This record gives sequence, structure tokens and C-alpha cells, in this order.
Amino acid sequence: MSSTRVCTSCSLEKPLDAFYKDKTKRGGYRPDCKVCKRATSKAYSSNNRESESQRHRAYYQSNKKGFVSRKARRRAAKLHADVPWADQGKIDFVYHCRDVINKVYKGNCEVDHIEPLQGKHVCGLHVHNNLQLLSAKANRSKGARRKR
Ligand SMILES: [Zn+2]
Repeated sequence: MSSTRVCTSCSLEKPLDAFYKDKTKRGGYRPDCKVCKRATSKAYSSNNRESESQRHRAYYQSNKKGFVSRKARRRAAKLHADVPWADQGKIDFVYHCRDVINKVYKGNCEVDHIEPLQGKHVCGLHVHNNLQLLSAKANRSKGARRKR
């Protein structure tokens, strides 16, 4: 396999890593280079603003779970509470349980960090065994404190 290819859009020869991978395409890469693909995507979304924002909304609605847990992960990372060995699958499961409780049982549950991320004396980590489900009310009254 050659390590360069010619972009079908700009006709420039570029190294393979200048092309997005696409398993459905022959050779495993898109025929147009990243620069061209970005330009066409950008043009498409500005020409189809309404349908694109609808598509994004629909995607968000059906992938809320991932968005919410990623948001918490980002927040945690900022606080240096995120650790590379955290089990994202287990963390997602905790958030999934919260969604099930809230949806199926009409609960008002929130995911809480048992050991607060910004505690006064110690800082908890964003890992599954530092997560628990609390009612929204209990979570408010707990605040950034440890349970006594
Ligand atoms: Zn190109």
C-alpha cells in the first residue's frame, strides 16, 4: 500500500494521515483530504443551518447519556480529579442508572461524588467507586461536604 494518495478534490498528493479514515472506502480512507473534507462540511452546514441544527439536537436527545457523563468528566478533569485509570464504562453505568430511576420511576436523582471533588481537606476523584446516587434534595444539602 502506498503511503501517499491524491486528493480527489484538490488533486494534491498528500500523505495518508492527511486523509480521514473510512472503513467503508477502498483503501480505508476517504478520497478527499482532511482540508477539503473540512471545507465541504463547513460549506454544507452553513448552507443547511436549520436542518443541521435539527440533526444536532436529535443526536443530543438520543445520546444525552454520553453528553452528560462527558460533561462531568470534563468538569472533573479541570479539577485534576480525572485519572487515566478511571473506568469510563462503569462511570457511564452510574449515569445510566440515574436516568433509569428518573425516567422509569419518576425519581429526582443526581450523581454525587461521595468524596467531593473540591473538598476542604481532601479531594475525591471522578471514578465510579466515588459516585453515588442521591436525591436532588439530599445532594443540595450535602453540598461540597463529606457525609458525616
Ligand atoms: Zn484536498
